[in-house]
Amino acid sequence: MTEIVTLGNVDTMLMFSITCGAFFVLLVVCMLWQEPKRWRLRKRLDEEEWMLCPKCEQGLRGIEEVPDAPGMVRCPECGEACERAHLPDLWKERLYPKLPPGSEES
Ligand SMILES: [Zn+2]
Repeated sequence: MTEIVTLGNVDTMLMFSITCGAFFVLLVVCMLWQEPKRWRLRKRLDEEEWMLCPKCEQGLRGIEEVPDAPGMVRCPECGEACERAHLPDLWKERLYPKLPPGSEES
């Protein structure tokens, strides 16, 4: 069954559409604002083969391992020590956060 919209309702619907449209545009603008930041980080991670300091984002690709802790690298910028093998996973988790199993709301 379809109902014919009366003139009074057209105004209400128009206002509603404009409000919805404005919110939608605002949402898209916010998303576009955030995206280049993420994209730049992703590009940098590719360039550095995911070897970025988790604390200050300094490239750690050419950094020597800590002599008395094999597999560990120390950031020359902030002094953060991290396991070289874990860096890609750490960044992937940061870029694409996954909800812990069982916590989805639907
Ligand atoms: Zn650092």
